[in-house]
This record gives sequence, structure tokens and C-alpha cells, in this order.
Amino acid sequence: MKIIFATGNKGKVREVREKLKSLGIEIISLKELKTEIEPPKETGETFLENAYQKAIYYAKHLKLPVIAEDSGLVVEKLGGLPGVRSARFAGENATDEENNALLIKKLKEMGLTESPAKYVSFFVLSYPESFGVWSKGEVKGKVTTKPRGSGGFGYDPLFIPEGYTKTMAELSVEEKNKISHRGKALEKFVRLLKDIL
Ligand code: IMP
Repeated sequence: MKIIFATGNKGKVREVREKLKSLGIEIISLKELKTEIEPPKETGETFLENAYQKAIYYAKHLKLPVIAEDSGLVVEKLGGLPGVRSARFAGENATDEENNALLIKKLKEMGLTESPAKYVSFFVLSYPESFGVWSKGEVKGKVTTKPRGSGGFGYDPLFIPEGYTKTMAELSVEEKNKISHRGKALEKFVRLLKDIL
């Protein structure tokens, strides 16, 4: 069975493809499909809403089953920011460095050097005419104003998972996948897919 994965992130494609292979599911990314469809605007106020929007939009347009994932960082002392705006915290086409710099600046402006935080991830499967399943994963921890490490991406140099002294960017890929929000959401998603396929 072929399922489209609505993402432009190569790392995510690799992770999901690997996990779903054992279920006999072939994952095809939007890039591989060479679709000309305009991407939908991310207008949701929650991660789940955004993941739904993406999955339903592409499933309807492509007339194929589609998986979408939405994720981000929720920082307690910043009232939940950057949240659904994680990718565009410092502006529409902001780089990871710009987003991280803004996060550090905001914490420092409040006189803080760290804050409790969590990464959250939602996976959704949609068919062209109906909805499939969804799953959630999260990893709790804290963010620091002192970045460390060069692995991972996004806010990883600032995020220290609960029970660890290293930042997410200092962990190996295997270690990160085992404890990460996306890793956990994907585990649950695979179990749900096994039940319905
Ligand atoms: P999207 O779900 O691809 O729109 O990504 C959301 C944004 O959340 C990313 O651009 C990152 O800024 C952040 N993010 C999501 N997952 C991770 C992660 O595993 N590490 C670091 N940042 C992440």
C-alpha cells in the first residue's frame, strides 16, 4: 500500500519510511510525487489542527491516503510560545539560528536562564473521503539560554530532556529517536495503523 507523507523534511521522511516498511506501507514524499499543488496555509491554533489540515488538504487534492505531522516546542515561561509558530517564530522564513536567538532573548528579557518546556508531535492519517487515525507524542524537559551541541535541528541545542544533562543536540540520532516526541508519536501511530490496515 502506498501512502503520501506531506512533508518537505527529508529527516522525517527517512524516520517514517523506516518504521512503516514493516507494515508493507510504501511512503512517498511530496517531493518524490512531484506535485504542483500549492501548500496549504498553517492557520490552526493547535498542532493537531495543523496536522489535520495538511493531511485532509493533500488527501482530497491527490485522491490518495496522506500522512501529515505537526510538531513544535512549548515553553512554559513564555506562555506556551513558540508553539504552533515554532518554525516561524522569528519570521516567515526564519532560520533555526534566528528562532533560537529570539527564544534566548525573550527568556533573558524576563531575567531567566531556563524554563520548563516540552516538544510535542502529532501524526494524522487522512483518506480522500474520510479521516483515518491520529497519535500524539511529547517529551518534557527544559530550555536553557546557553546552546550546546551540533546534532538534531531546530531548538535541539537549547532543549534538555527530563533526566538528562545533555541537550537534545548532544544526543546521538538513535538516543534522540528513542525519547523524542516524534519517536513516541510514531510508535503509537504504527500500532494504530496495524489495527486498521
Ligand atoms: P514542522 O512540524 O515541520 O512545521 O516543524 C515545526 C518546528 O518545530 C520546526 O521547524 C522546529 O523549529 C521545531 N521542532 C519540531 N521538532 C523538533 C525537534 O525534534 N527538534 C528541534 N526542533 C523541533
